[in-house]
Amino acid sequence: MDTNTSLQALMKGPLPPLYFCIGSPVVGNPTQHMMEKAFEQLGYPGRYLTIEVDPDELEPSIWGLLAMHFQGGNVTAPFKQEVLSYLDELTKSASLCDAVNCITRKDDGTYIGDNTDGKGFLQSLVEIVPDLKKRKVVVFGSGGAASAIVTELALHGVREVVVVNRTLTRAKTLVDNLAGISRTTLSWEPWEGIYQIKEHDLVVVQATSVGLFQPDDCIKVAFTPDLHNVIACDVVFNPVETTFLKKAKLAGCQTLDGLGMLVNQGAIAVKQWTGKEPDRALMRSSLEEAFAIC
Ligand code: NDP
Repeated sequence: MDTNTSLQALMKGPLPPLYFCIGSPVVGNPTQHMMEKAFEQLGYPGRYLTIEVDPDELEPSIWGLLAMHFQGGNVTAPFKQEVLSYLDELTKSASLCDAVNCITRKDDGTYIGDNTDGKGFLQSLVEIVPDLKKRKVVVFGSGGAASAIVTELALHGVREVVVVNRTLTRAKTLVDNLAGISRTTLSWEPWEGIYQIKEHDLVVVQATSVGLFQPDDCIKVAFTPDLHNVIACDVVFNPVETTFLKKAKLAGCQTLDGLGMLVNQGAIAVKQWTGKEPDRALMRSSLEEAFAIC
């Protein structure tokens, strides 16, 4: 928005719609930069603020944001679950994976919580795997990201999803919570030693936090050489090309980085807030610009 329009709004109204990103710690989260670029390109007057919230003060912080009629926002760690209890309504995805990363104020003034992480991931994946429904998917991890992804894979109706996690009980709980939501066969496998990825036509998803800001770190997996038609995905977005993806490429896999998921979850939020489709290429380049500073 140019300075003149912004000044007109300030002096004569209406004031710009406000959005937030809350988390702790939240410094280093590039979402505001991506959202502001998207708003600007759409000619949308929204303003987006990154707000550090003390974990002991989530409740008053949320009530304040809602009372000030923020139009929506993003929620990041560690509040994705705790925030549920302050909202009026949840989407099916948010309710199934028990986590919210996107809040929208509806026309009637109530607030709905959604989880766009899994949806953003699914959009990226379907673009390169059109026959996803016929595939078997192995997901490493059982935290927030993995839970959102497994939920969307099941809602999409993929043939089979296997969850592998360091703490087996979390994998079991994730699978149990989603049992029966679709025809997808859901199961878990223990992760003992090095997990060998050896099946052709598989989709494997690295959805643990291993590798984030640690370019040399990788989960304990090995790829059998010359894999045919295997897609390896990583949710970690910084570095964009993780050691996991490098290993997968060497074994002949097609790879999908975490940046696409990050862009897509943000684009879904912008569409929910503005009703308009943002420029995803611009959002991706804004993230690359932000990460170049780290
Ligand atoms: P959580 O803390 O909820 O979960 C972390 C997961 O990683 C758990 O399953 C944990 O296993 C596993 N894990 C941690 N350390 C190890 C290890 N050394 N070996 C094996 N497994 C390990 O985190 P989130 O799910 O919220 O986030 C996971 C990643 O996803 C982060 O890097 C985050 O930045 C990224 N993310 C990316 C998004 C995107 O748009 N690209 C969106 C959201 C998140 P255990 O249960 O045994 O502790």
